[in-house]
Amino acid sequence: MMQTILVATTNPGKVRELRALLGDQVEWKSLADFPGVAEVTEDGTTFAENARRKALGYAQATGLWTLADDSGLVVDALGGAPGVNSARFAGDDRNGVDRKTIDRRNWEKLLSLMEGIPTEERTARFVCCLCLAGPEQVLLETAGTVEGLITTEPAGTGGFGYDPVFFVPQLGRTVAQIGDEEKNAISHRGNAMRKLKPLLGELLRTGAAGS
Ligand code: IMP
Repeated sequence: MMQTILVATTNPGKVRELRALLGDQVEWKSLADFPGVAEVTEDGTTFAENARRKALGYAQATGLWTLADDSGLVVDALGGAPGVNSARFAGDDRNGVDRKTIDRRNWEKLLSLMEGIPTEERTARFVCCLCLAGPEQVLLETAGTVEGLITTEPAGTGGFGYDPVFFVPQLGRTVAQIGDEEKNAISHRGNAMRKLKPLLGELLRTGAAGS
């Protein structure tokens, strides 16, 4: 019988992305299929902890294997900030504020905190942690990163979040200046998913989680 996996998101884009990368060997569901399920709060202190909480929480609520992710930006000169607070770095007030405005406020705050910091000290990385859990236990965990530098000015209109101020030296552009496919090939999320793929294949084949 085909394994069903719930993706802990209401974003249809993320489910499409997973299906494209991890294939049709699984029946994918999203939280949009479970409107009555209460939201699991992301109040952990690490990306891995948040991913684990979400995966276990929704697996317990639905009885399904659940795949959750948590991601964000880690800036060395700021002691790792914004980290797990990446989405709400410039404040938690979302009432009536659209996503693009929240994103812009976040990177504006970041650039202002980093004023005067020289290029060589502007190192940063995007991190993504993925966790697959059943109601009783964590089954698989992976993490992916992409290294870069925080710019002094935004550049590009693609992507989301901190993409306009995250410069990838190997590409010579910010993440907002590259296309979705190019981003997926180098991104923290793409890297974490590519690590998950063989582990999930093995788990589905044998029913046993690798250690
Ligand atoms: P979440 O894991 O989807 O909740 O993302 C947390 C936050 O991290 C987002 O709201 C963004 O601010 C930031 N972030 C995560 N991934 C990316 C990315 O690929 N580009 C830019 N910002 C990101």
